[in-house]
Amino acid sequence: MSKAHRGKGIRDQFARGRGTCPLCGRSNVKILYEQEAGEVKLKVCKTCRAAVKHGKKAISAQSAAPAVPPAETASTAG
Ligand SMILES: [Zn+2]
Repeated sequence: MSKAHRGKGIRDQFARGRGTCPLCGRSNVKILYEQEAGEVKLKVCKTCRAAVKHGKKAISAQSAAPAVPPAETASTAG
């Protein structure tokens, strides 16, 4: 279980663990690191995890909100 953030370990995750980091806004980065911000848990990229850990970045509740609101008007689903 050493390489939990590499290779086979992240294949079963959504988009293989990749996505847009809510903190730095970079896309297609590996978002494998959970950071707690009060009550919410936020998945951030490796760089942001280190930044938060060292107090250079702060996780706000605002950044925990999804950037794109869920589409409720999806229709024609078979
Ligand atoms: Zn980031």
